[in-house]
Amino acid sequence: MTSAHRSAYLLERAWVDGAVLDDVLVEIEDGRFTAVTPGTSRPDDKASSSQREFHRPADETHRLPGLTLPGLANCHSHAFHRALRGRTQRERGTFWTWREQMYGVAGRLDPDSYFELARATYREMAAAGITSVGEFHYLHHQPDGTPYDDPNAMGHALVAAAGDAGIRIGLLDTCYLSSGFGRPPEGAQVRYSDGDAVRWAERVAGLEAEPHAAIGAAIHSVRAVPRDQLTTVVEAAGGGPLHVHLSEQVAENDACLATYGATPTQLLHDAGALGPRTSAVHATHLTGADITHLGSTRTRACFCPTTERDLGDGIGPGRALAAAGAVLTLGSDSHAVIDLLEEMRALELDERLATQQRGHWTAAELLAAGTAHESVGFADAGVIAVGRRADLVTLDTTSTRTAGTGADEATAVFAAGAADVTHVVADGRVIATRDDHEDIGRELAAAIERVHR
Ligand SMILES: [Zn+2]
Repeated sequence: MTSAHRSAYLLERAWVDGAVLDDVLVEIEDGRFTAVTPGTSRPDDKASSSQREFHRPADETHRLPGLTLPGLANCHSHAFHRALRGRTQRERGTFWTWREQMYGVAGRLDPDSYFELARATYREMAAAGITSVGEFHYLHHQPDGTPYDDPNAMGHALVAAAGDAGIRIGLLDTCYLSSGFGRPPEGAQVRYSDGDAVRWAERVAGLEAEPHAAIGAAIHSVRAVPRDQLTTVVEAAGGGPLHVHLSEQVAENDACLATYGATPTQLLHDAGALGPRTSAVHATHLTGADITHLGSTRTRACFCPTTERDLGDGIGPGRALAAAGAVLTLGSDSHAVIDLLEEMRALELDERLATQQRGHWTAAELLAAGTAHESVGFADAGVIAVGRRADLVTLDTTSTRTAGTGADEATAVFAAGAADVTHVVADGRVIATRDDHEDIGRELAAAIERVHR
């Protein structure tokens, strides 16, 4: 084996052990932190003595001014929805009318165009400081429902796209079998269905983890997976991540009650689908009993506030879920916005709108929700600490948005945005800097134009 890949950064300020510390020297070898040393004296900028000072003559120590956070985790993504940004917002209607527009894009993609669109979208994520994405993937087959020669061609396109963009992907391969309660898939949905959960599981068994890719499972929703198929998906997920859209819409709750006499949460609980490895996405319209079930099983609740407001979904009971024992995570879902800092503050600010009270979440709690890499299969990421995956997201603390805000965790959560991210490292490699923004914009425009052509 050739010599290990090493690098070192001197961070002006960094979020380490639940506090912002000054002058943190981090050393990295083979993608992991090997040393994290706060209070390291600032090397003389003019002299090259800094390298001798750290006894690493072979390595370069890069200074990163600003505030550095751990890598951010985008726990709920549908990459292709990025092609809808700005094109659906002017329409009146509901979640259900938006869904028709989304299905239009879903019907046109093939493995090549999906790879291009996903790579551009993941590069936008990288530039926003996202180092892991949970991709809730249901666009499996050809437009008429026939499998591709490689039945996982679309999933493989997503894994390759993430690799090219430099981010990790938790590929949450999604079981989708019915259009609604008791209705077969129709229109674009025939691309999503494997026929039954056993055939879904057989196809998913052909996917293999890679260093940057974890394989997980998803139940699209209780309307898309009949009750008698749920346990097959739960068992196939094994010990890995299991995600499910839950109670995003009142209409889904009503139809579930009419069909089964139970809420979607109750149905999932009865199928053994809840627990710490499970992420319930949205969890917006819940009963008190639902909250108790999700909390007592330590299920994760993945809120997607910028999508939920874009689609008019409602405001979920975030604080009540946390008080009951659930763990909050965050996702950009439809990518109306890709900015995890915005998702973090929205968790707090939406709760203020709902309660007319301020101060529900601390900045530290919001940062934890924005770095929940374990929920998409990367338990060894999300903190700047020895032995963990070496991810670093550096924010400009002197921008028009952040100047004068204190350069601490409140700056990150309540002042900064994705445009303030200057430098991003994932698994020890630089994956984006501010200089990349123009190039990423061009790539996004080309990929999206191809989809709408
Ligand atoms: Zn979703």
